[in-house]
Amino acid sequence: MNKKRLLILGGTTEAREVAEAAAERLGALAVIITSLAGRTTSAPTLADPKTSSEVRIGGFGGVAGLTRFIRDEDIAAVVDATHPFAAQISKNAKAACDETKTPRLYLNRPHWTAPDGIIIETAQTFSEAAALAQKKATRCFLTIGSKGLEDFAEVKDVFFLIRTIEATAPPFENAENLVQRPPFTEADEKALMEKHAIDMLVTKESGGRATEAKIKAAAGLGIPVVMIERPSPPESLSVNTVDGALQWMADQIG
Ligand code: NAP
Repeated sequence: MNKKRLLILGGTTEAREVAEAAAERLGALAVIITSLAGRTTSAPTLADPKTSSEVRIGGFGGVAGLTRFIRDEDIAAVVDATHPFAAQISKNAKAACDETKTPRLYLNRPHWTAPDGIIIETAQTFSEAAALAQKKATRCFLTIGSKGLEDFAEVKDVFFLIRTIEATAPPFENAENLVQRPPFTEADEKALMEKHAIDMLVTKESGGRATEAKIKAAAGLGIPVVMIERPSPPESLSVNTVDGALQWMADQIG
């Protein structure tokens, strides 16, 4: 019997968890292919013929490229488990799956809700957050990753502490790039913000628990927090959990 080929659009912890669990539980019936954009230099650890999982790396070449990939690779179903801010690939996945009539599931990471008593100012866009930094900050802790930094390039007379997982060249001079990988504790975050005399934290609503420590630390220090809201995902059948995605994948095979 030919195994069905299931594509996971990845780049997140959840995508890795889905891929590993799917390869283990559905590997006898399906080949699980994870696609990564190739943004990080660390090698993926998923390629394992024993568990029937594969990894491919790099862009497809827009909607046309993804459509071709789905056809050429005989993909039976697609799980979009990309990051909530990876709006382009999710849009492309919808278009390519619509075109090829391939079932598609969006794994929607639950929103993060602020604990009681923590006041957060929201921004709809990166440039709106930059305007708030210009208005209210002198030393801003920017934890938005390396994408979107250019929106802060025009902010004058504000120092930016920019934390990224891999080194990045900030597109402006009054900045320091701190390369650190999560998780972070609240105590560490507090010490870091005190050391750099931070007076504003800018983050994005990526969901998950990773955001929590720095927000609690900032709130404890009385530092205002600006959170950039996530873009709306394309209209999709969606689940919020890894188990939900696994169940859906099992249904596509059966
Ligand atoms: P994006 O803006 O939505 O996508 C830009 C282009 O990158 C896409 O058009 C596609 O190129 C390629 N691409 C993105 N994800 C891909 C994937 N999983 N497999 C193959 N190609 C992919 O994406 P992004 O925000 O740059 O994020 C890139 C990757 O990093 C995503 O996989 C995402 O899950 C992960 N990530 C993003 C963030 C974030 O904050 N944005 C945070 C953590 C992890 P083509 O058009 O050539 O196909």
